[in-house]
Amino acid sequence: TTEIYTLSLHDALPIYRLNQALFVAWRQKVQHAMLYVVIDHWQTLLAEHGRSEIDLLYQQIGQKFTDVLREEDTVASLGDGVFAILLSHIDSDNEVATTEVGHVLNKLTGVFEQVFVVAQEVLLLSSSVGVAMIPSDGDDAQAIMKNAEKAAKRVAQRGGDGFAFYAEKLQKQSDFRFNVMRQLQQALDADQFQVHYQAIVTHDGQIIGVEALLYWQHPEQGLVGPEQFIPIAEECGLIKQIGTWVLQKVSQQFVEFRKLDVNGQLAYIAVNISAHQFHAPGFYQVVNQVIRESGIEPEQLMLEITESLMHQDIERTSKMLLQLSALGVAFTLDDFGTGYSSLTNLGQLPIRQLKIDQSFVDNVNEIDARRIIEMIITMAGYLDAEVIAKGVETSEQQHKLYKLGCLKYQGFLFNKPVSADEFSQLLAQEQESRAFAVL
Ligand code: C2E
Ligand code: MG
Repeated sequence: TTEIYTLSLHDALPIYRLNQALFVAWRQKVQHAMLYVVIDHWQTLLAEHGRSEIDLLYQQIGQKFTDVLREEDTVASLGDGVFAILLSHIDSDNEVATTEVGHVLNKLTGVFEQVFVVAQEVLLLSSSVGVAMIPSDGDDAQAIMKNAEKAAKRVAQRGGDGFAFYAEKLQKQSDFRFNVMRQLQQALDADQFQVHYQAIVTHDGQIIGVEALLYWQHPEQGLVGPEQFIPIAEECGLIKQIGTWVLQKVSQQFVEFRKLDVNGQLAYIAVNISAHQFHAPGFYQVVNQVIRESGIEPEQLMLEITESLMHQDIERTSKMLLQLSALGVAFTLDDFGTGYSSLTNLGQLPIRQLKIDQSFVDNVNEIDARRIIEMIITMAGYLDAEVIAKGVETSEQQHKLYKLGCLKYQGFLFNKPVSADEFSQLLAQEQESRAFAVL
């Protein structure tokens, strides 16, 4: 467990730990974060309740912080309602780093959602947190600590109850995430989401399936791709609502697509499902209800999940998969080959398709990638699953995949994700040309 160091700001231990972290950061090119946490209105609390009561409170808070942090993190009590928290091994990519730090900050402020009782009085607390990154925000431990403190002061001056990054770039990044979160909440009501559709085809160009991809028509920024906002929606829990909307929307749309599909080739619509969405209570009911209300056949609904979803609580996950597949819906394992699924686990699960990750398609000229593709195809044989290659951009890639035994594809070579209207046209055209070919 994490230890709490009870020290003053000038004591050697936090500085020693910081120096150590700095050293590791430079040597291993990894990033750490230093949080300077000031409990708001500490002096007032002290004046109102006296030293011994407040010392107890201080210890309680320190303990609660420790409980929500990871083992490798360090909490140092600096006195006067201040804590220094060292988060080790933060991702070196700034975008990921702000998410990681934001996540920890959520957990820390979550501590203040509970009430603290001092001398039978209920206290509602908050904190001002400054964040300095190691090694980029200072040349030595003192500088890092000073800069984290400066950032915390900025928050306190604005009235407290918040956090700030010392580095402007990270602050901007974090503001962006915060803004997106706020705007995402309104996006559903304002009808700013759009679904784009991309065909899944056989080697002779027949459209057998379609994948739904969510885009955001942002009032100022224009069309925003899913990679920019789905992770943020996942982080703040909005993915549940958004995901339900997508399921409703695309199931209704699929019923329309099928009306154009006179030859009856379009078998299913694939919908991406986040782990958060899948594991959220009520997901089964959502799927069940969508099927009943939209008129889509359960067999026409293909849920795309990733291997990582199965790392969490395999028992509960497989139960859910079996329950849903009893409804009739099928599952695709997306980005297959990048996770760590074992055949033993997969063998017991209702998996209809494996989607080969684009990285293997990109490198299909290299022997290593080809070996993995062959392995996936063999595995699919055991699982009685289909194989689809995604991100196919050239006919050369398609040809190579075909020779390896992969007969279904998705990618820019065939079509980019397009609006429902454009996809309808594509479908109609394809049907026409096929009817012509038959004649
Ligand atoms: P994904 O499920 O792997 O979707 C395929 C991505 O590859 C799409 O990116 C698609 O535009 C892109 N793509 C297709 N063909 C090609 C190609 O030939 N070359 C290249 N370079 N890219 C190709 P997109 O639309 O940006 O979607 C990104 C990811 O966002 C999706 O990856 C999926 O994980 C997630 N996503 C999209 N819609 C939803 C949704 O409704 N719910 C959830 N939970 N996630 C979604
Ligand atoms: Mg997908």
